[in-house]
Amino acid sequence: MQARDVHEWHLLAPLPYTPRGRWLLLVNPMNLFETVSRLGHEQVVFFQHRESALRCVIAIHSTVLGPALGGLRMWPYANEADAVRDVLRHSKDMTYKAAIAGLDVGGAKGILIGNPETDKNEALFRSLGRFIHSLGGRYIASEDVGTSSDDMELIRLETPHVVGVPEANGGSGDPSRATALGTLHGIRACLEFKYGHADLRRVSFAVQGAGQVGYHLVKLLRAAGSKVFVTDIAEDRIEHLVDECGAEAVPMSQIYDVEATVFSPCALSAIINEDTVPRLRCEIVAGGANNQLESEELGTELERRGILYAPDYAINAGGLMNSTLELHGYTEARADRRVARIHDIITRILRLGAQEKIPTWQAAKQLAELRLTAISQTKLPYLASASPPRTF
Ligand code: NAD
Repeated sequence: MQARDVHEWHLLAPLPYTPRGRWLLLVNPMNLFETVSRLGHEQVVFFQHRESALRCVIAIHSTVLGPALGGLRMWPYANEADAVRDVLRHSKDMTYKAAIAGLDVGGAKGILIGNPETDKNEALFRSLGRFIHSLGGRYIASEDVGTSSDDMELIRLETPHVVGVPEANGGSGDPSRATALGTLHGIRACLEFKYGHADLRRVSFAVQGAGQVGYHLVKLLRAAGSKVFVTDIAEDRIEHLVDECGAEAVPMSQIYDVEATVFSPCALSAIINEDTVPRLRCEIVAGGANNQLESEELGTELERRGILYAPDYAINAGGLMNSTLELHGYTEARADRRVARIHDIITRILRLGAQEKIPTWQAAKQLAELRLTAISQTKLPYLASASPPRTF
């Protein structure tokens, strides 16, 4: 086996961290096709362009519902294995998010290997835009961690297959306000389901993260009269919210112990884990962060403890709803109307969970898969007049 092959096996290894594990991988390597087929991806594309230092992976998980849309994440990954794992996992999540949100897009994700602080330039994004264009609209890019609407604007110079360009240039801009608004609609649905009212003045919140989503959410909650405890690594962000709207600051390590009606994760992934679940003093977990559950079993454990969990990819779909409107003609009023649907989406999930006696994460998955199956079946049989012309 040549050095290059060793590197590729390493890239696809599930846990190549011990010398023993690494050796085992060499003799029993995991195969990329096998991984991709197990996760159900349609296509994974590697783009490189030496002159602009472009290294990008785009994973298209599903185009059953329409062209696959997903954020382009720019991150200085420690190794390529982490980058590939991230892109495969997040692209599948996007399929479920679009499906549960009732959108006409499929799921994808792109990762750009590099440091967003130092490695960005026009050539990089234009070169990426040209590669995205070569996919013929199967992939639509949007902003994500490490990229901004200005970067999407550079991609737009080379391809129309991008959303999230600045509002000033006819786009939908930063999606985080819509994500926070959608989260608020989902929180109201949870309150109605659990207490029979959605009076935000009668409930309290512990919000983890005062970044883009957390900031907007705390402001909305305070405007509605809720008591809000908030934490962040960045002290200036907390101080800002304390001064601006009277939220109460909590040390980072104590946010799980706060006695509040709702714990709202708006910062990190996997914060519902074996260490944090026993500490939670809330009755509802409902927040904007992605991948809140370290494992699905922990969603079941929340249920067992009487804590209502609003599945993250359903409650935080407001940003995606906002961006996809750009494909049909964006206005903020249209976006807000669309985002308001999250109330009914969450209600439907909670009702199905109660009816079938299954945890809410499972109810959401079931509803998303039901829609994907139903729509994939509409593609059969071949209907000449409804299908694009075929060339051979
Ligand atoms: P952001 O980077 O603007 O904010 C995250 C905040 O969390 C930062 O202020 C950071 O300092 C803080 N933070 C980091 N570690 C922390 C810790 N241990 N304890 C407390 N705070 C901590 O990101 P964002 O855009 O607000 O996104 C927040 C979450 O929501 C992410 O999981 C993201 O994937 C998800 N999300 C965002 C959107 C969107 O529209 N921005 C849409 C869907 C999902």
